[in-house]
Amino acid sequence: MSSKATGPKHLLATAVVAILCLNAAAQASISGPDGRLELRVTQDARYSLTYDGVAMMEPSALGLRTNRGDFAILTLKDFTTGVKDETYSLPTGKRRVVHYSANTLVCTFENPEGKAIRVEFRVSDSDVALRYLLDGYASIRVLEEYTAFNLPERSTTFLTPQSDPMVGWKRTKPSYEELYATDRPLKEASEFGHGYTFPCLFKVGGDGWVLVGETGVDGRYCASRLSDWQEGGYRIAFPMAGENDGNGTSEPAFALPGSTPWRTITVGSDLAPIAETTVTWDVVSPLYEPSCEYIYGKSTWSWILWQDGSINYDDQVRFIDLAAAMGFRYVLVDNFWDRRIGRERMAELVDYARSKGVGVFLWYSSSGYWNDITQSPVGCMDSPISRKAEMRWLRQIGVKGIKVDFFGGDKQETLRIYEGVLSDADDHGLMVIFHGCTIPRGWERMYPNYVGSEAVRASENLVFSQSECDREAQNATLHPFIRNSLGCMEFGGCFLNKVLSKHQNKGSVRRLSDEAELATAVLFQDPIQNFALAPNNLEDAPAHCLEFLREVPTVWDDIRFVDGYPGKYAVIARRSGDIWYVGALNADKQTPYELDLLELTHSLGGASSEVLHGGARKKVSSRDAVLRLGGDDGAVVIVKI
Ligand code: CA
Repeated sequence: MSSKATGPKHLLATAVVAILCLNAAAQASISGPDGRLELRVTQDARYSLTYDGVAMMEPSALGLRTNRGDFAILTLKDFTTGVKDETYSLPTGKRRVVHYSANTLVCTFENPEGKAIRVEFRVSDSDVALRYLLDGYASIRVLEEYTAFNLPERSTTFLTPQSDPMVGWKRTKPSYEELYATDRPLKEASEFGHGYTFPCLFKVGGDGWVLVGETGVDGRYCASRLSDWQEGGYRIAFPMAGENDGNGTSEPAFALPGSTPWRTITVGSDLAPIAETTVTWDVVSPLYEPSCEYIYGKSTWSWILWQDGSINYDDQVRFIDLAAAMGFRYVLVDNFWDRRIGRERMAELVDYARSKGVGVFLWYSSSGYWNDITQSPVGCMDSPISRKAEMRWLRQIGVKGIKVDFFGGDKQETLRIYEGVLSDADDHGLMVIFHGCTIPRGWERMYPNYVGSEAVRASENLVFSQSECDREAQNATLHPFIRNSLGCMEFGGCFLNKVLSKHQNKGSVRRLSDEAELATAVLFQDPIQNFALAPNNLEDAPAHCLEFLREVPTVWDDIRFVDGYPGKYAVIARRSGDIWYVGALNADKQTPYELDLLELTHSLGGASSEVLHGGARKKVSSRDAVLRLGGDDGAVVIVKI
């Protein structure tokens, strides 16, 4: 789908590139196509960013330490510029068709030994991506990355810490399930002393927002994080030695010529570019053609409310029937199915589901030798030999996808497991969901059968603890701007039970209103939504809630940021065909949130709209056009254009 850049857009981009200069101070600079975001690179290899002339990233270090030389002290020798203009389609992303237009800069630096390293930058209207290019014909080990993110002093942080390794349930951490702290001072020490997991959001005083992430990470590198603040900013940090139970190295290695993954920086004067960014997919490419067409949709999932006790044939029939009654495409059968249903009866269950028009996803442990998980099946996904045999059987009985849980961290060795599972699964027409895992890093585009990853304090925590229910609204208003902005998020929410258990006689109590739960189906994006419904909801849930869940899409044509402040409130619009679905949620118990629905309808080009709020679905009219949301309350607005 890549198109040669021609026509007026190309001319405009060329004009912007033309103002680039290697001036007296020998620095290179380029802007995004609209000229507002500007990147400067100094002769001593520091990059900085301004937006409308305001500093959004102070001069920040570049460089690597490798087994083939230390590229810490660098001198800019040369640079070239160009234009990247591509239109691509991504059915599981935020926009089905994305037009990516960027100006590019490749700087060649030399270290004091005269060894060269190149840094490639791409600058679009709101995003910067940068990576290191290494030439030669050998292998290289990257021992340390110096890349820094020197946020301006006036910035505050919206970050989640990296966990200690090999702690938590069956020694499965880190798995990106720690709490966020919001609006914290820059340079504050991280909770566990290991820095922060991507994505990392910063508010630059009153001037705007910066979101830092990485993408294009595959089996040829490790996944990285941000260090605690050091002299000169946050730095790229590699996995901890203890991850994966100490197996595998922290330092990635790859063959030359080659490149590191992309580090991405999204910049905006408001949160629109943060919520709407597609940079994580713009700079990567599909790694293989899909073996078949993958179809996404909604799913039922017994485990979230009925837990391990529901993993038996009869209860799974009830959740298949629930999926059929809701018009959902899938059912997810969670851990222990191999022992409690068995492989022979699983083939029968898949046949039964098929007779109801429902496809089956099956759970697997990734293990493996990297944690103590005994939830089964184990030992089916960790080696190519067992994996291929298992996947042949899955295809034979007609399973549609797998959910693979409990990975061992971010080392390159573990990234190779993710890649092997995805690649082998595609050979057998299987989609893949990851849980207990790292965040995706461009994987929606790189691996066409990839669905989504947990890598968030997901719905299971609401079932496990009341305090999690108490802060559900606060967490939910973070994700559209942080975790879910840079990758599909498998949350498994949308509870309609008031008490989060099978019989609703014990367990944590939901604080969110019904419509606030529905709003998360729009605020959170994942192409397969495993909703936390149970069969009783067919009888006891409000009709307008069930009607909405039957109707709401899981894949989208477009996204629009409407309003929000991470941790306080979020209003996000997603379009499917000629309907905008707007999810609105207020976490702030002190300050009611007000939204003018006529203005919203108009701003989305709508002819008419309906609102789901306060126990009903009704047409928006001028008489009561202002929606008022108290704390923990939410709404969905459906705008027809
Ligand atoms: Ca989990």
